[in-house]
Amino acid sequence: MSDAVQQLETVKARIAAAEHEADRPAGAVTLVAVSKTFDADAIRPVLAAGQRVFGENRVQEAQGKWPALRQEFPGIELHLIGPLQSNKAKEAVALFDVIETVDREKIASELAKEIDRQGKAPKLYVQVNTGSEPQKAGIEPKDAVAFVARCRDVHGLAIEGLMCIPPAEENPGPHFALLEKLAREAGVEKLSMGMSGDYELAVAFGASSVRVGSAIFGHR
Ligand SMILES: *Cc1c(COP(=O)(O)O)cnc(C)c1O
Repeated sequence: MSDAVQQLETVKARIAAAEHEADRPAGAVTLVAVSKTFDADAIRPVLAAGQRVFGENRVQEAQGKWPALRQEFPGIELHLIGPLQSNKAKEAVALFDVIETVDREKIASELAKEIDRQGKAPKLYVQVNTGSEPQKAGIEPKDAVAFVARCRDVHGLAIEGLMCIPPAEENPGPHFALLEKLAREAGVEKLSMGMSGDYELAVAFGASSVRVGSAIFGHR
C-alpha cells in the first residue's frame, strides 16, 4: 500500500470516530482529498483505493491532471477550493463539480453567465473570511447572509453551503461555530470546514465536508 493510501484509511477512520463521538450519522461527513501540488501518479493510488472526491486550489493546475484521471476513474467529484479569478470562470465551470470559493459580486455574475452559456451548473459555496484577515479571500462575516441572498435573488445562483479557512494561529472552534451560525441564518445546508490539523474538531462542529491534504498526501 502506498503511504497516501495508508494515510487515507487513517483519515477515514478518524472521521468515522469523530462522527460517532459527536452523535452524527455514519457517513455524514464527506472527505475532500486535497491533491494540489501532487501529480497524477501520486493521486492514482488514492483513486484506486476508492476515494472519489478531490479538491484543487488552482484552475490551471487542475486542468493539467484531472481530465485524464476522469477518463480512467468514473464518478470523480472535483472541488475548487482556491480563489477564483473572474477571467477563469469559464474554465472553472467547465472543470469543477463544486466551486467553494464564491466570495464577491463579480465572481457571482461571471459564474451565472457561464452556467447559463454552458448549460452546466456546478454546486456553489460561499467562502467566508471568518477571521476578517486582510490577506485572505472570502466575504466578511457581517456581509455573508446578504451576499448569499443576492447570489440567489440577483444572479439566480443556488448556494448550497459555506466554506471557511480559520486563521492559522487561532483556535478554529469559534470560526467553525460562526460558519455554522451564518449558514443557519442564510438558509444553506453544507459546511466545508476543517483541514489536516483540525478536521475532527470540524466534524464535532457540524462540518458536512472536510478538506484534507497533507495528512493524506504528505508535505507539500
Ligand atoms: C491546501 C488547502 C487545504 C488542505 O490543507 P492541509 O492542511 O494540507 O490539509 C484545505 N483547504 C484549502 C482551501 C486549501 O487551500
